[in-house]
Amino acid sequence: MSDKKPATIAVRQGISSDSQYHAVVPPIYLSTNYRFPEFGEVPQYDYARGGNPTRSHLERALADLEGGAGAVVTSCGMSAINLLVSLFSSDDLIVAPHDCYGGTYRLLDSRAKKGAFKVSFIDQTNPDALDEALAKKPKLLLIETPSNPLLRVVDVVELSKKAHAVGALVAVDNTFLSPVLQQPISLGADFVVHSTTKFINGHSDVVGGVIVAADAEKAEELAWWGNCIGATGGAFDSYMVLRGIRTLGVRMRQHEENAAAVLAYLQDEELVGTIYHPSLPSHPGHEIAKRQQAGFGGMVSFELNGDEAELKCFLQSLELFALAESLGGVESLVAHPGSMTHRAMSDEAQAEAGLAPTLLRLSVGLEDAADLVADLKQAFDKVRETK
Ligand SMILES: *Cc1c(COP(=O)(O)O)cnc(C)c1O
Repeated sequence: MSDKKPATIAVRQGISSDSQYHAVVPPIYLSTNYRFPEFGEVPQYDYARGGNPTRSHLERALADLEGGAGAVVTSCGMSAINLLVSLFSSDDLIVAPHDCYGGTYRLLDSRAKKGAFKVSFIDQTNPDALDEALAKKPKLLLIETPSNPLLRVVDVVELSKKAHAVGALVAVDNTFLSPVLQQPISLGADFVVHSTTKFINGHSDVVGGVIVAADAEKAEELAWWGNCIGATGGAFDSYMVLRGIRTLGVRMRQHEENAAAVLAYLQDEELVGTIYHPSLPSHPGHEIAKRQQAGFGGMVSFELNGDEAELKCFLQSLELFALAESLGGVESLVAHPGSMTHRAMSDEAQAEAGLAPTLLRLSVGLEDAADLVADLKQAFDKVRETK
């Protein structure tokens, strides 16, 4: 399937592959263990931690979607990153973005404190900071683009070239766009990680992850470690995510179309301050995003012009956008990073990271765009009434 377009790969993986009953949709295999055909003859699958036919379908689909040689489906996004860092040793330096996903920051920081490896968090949009970090000969450069919640974009082609020149491997967290809108391996990355909890599953009912490797040897090493540390995902979750990705192509298109409608409205709304979205020519990463992304995605962040009471009024007045963490599901969500995803950061650290107190992040879902815009408008009208 790897020669096909993403929508085709997502729809077709495993279809009509059942040789026993010719089921069109591949059956789910819940068995933990598999019979050895004979003494001393190891079957393709023996124990489900190491491998499972349902998980294999999802791994094949995600490896093909990302243009990699192989993939390991994991229990969540964090376990995919934990699996990735299992490849490194105590003297190895990992360079990560200072504004990476909070869970990633916590994992790298805590593991480094235990001596698993060394870590350096830098502003990857700053070329001097990047060059300085790369001069220390890191073993891994971890990239997250677009970033959360300000949707900062970095140039994967350029960063990969620079990292490879000093012998570092490159991994990209592609959670915000999915392989339909960005394929980091084609831009030079060695690994791609995802929280499949988000757009890839897309229905907010599975926590899952994946790591895809560009080359087969690294894919095998990851599969070995995945089994060794027990990072792999379960059969039922894999079945659900495989069901979710069938519609990934159409979902991503609609997320983007709806986000564009929301953006058009927000740009004319007087209660909206700075808007963060790579589709806007004023966004510092606009040109890079145009080059390396096949679309701008469904995440939109903006600052509300108002105080905390007005912010609260706005959030309480929304009817369709639920105040919740996570993203990428069919349902629209709104998050206040300052008190939710990024609450572990002090006010000073938030200010330094560019997070204004009234910054809001929308995960624009698949409801009718006109209803979404009307919901935002009526909530802003409520704020206006209190002014
Ligand atoms: C959610 C998320 C993760 C962590 O994934 P889980 O499935 O929650 O473990 C990692 N990176 C990014 C960018 C995320 O949004």
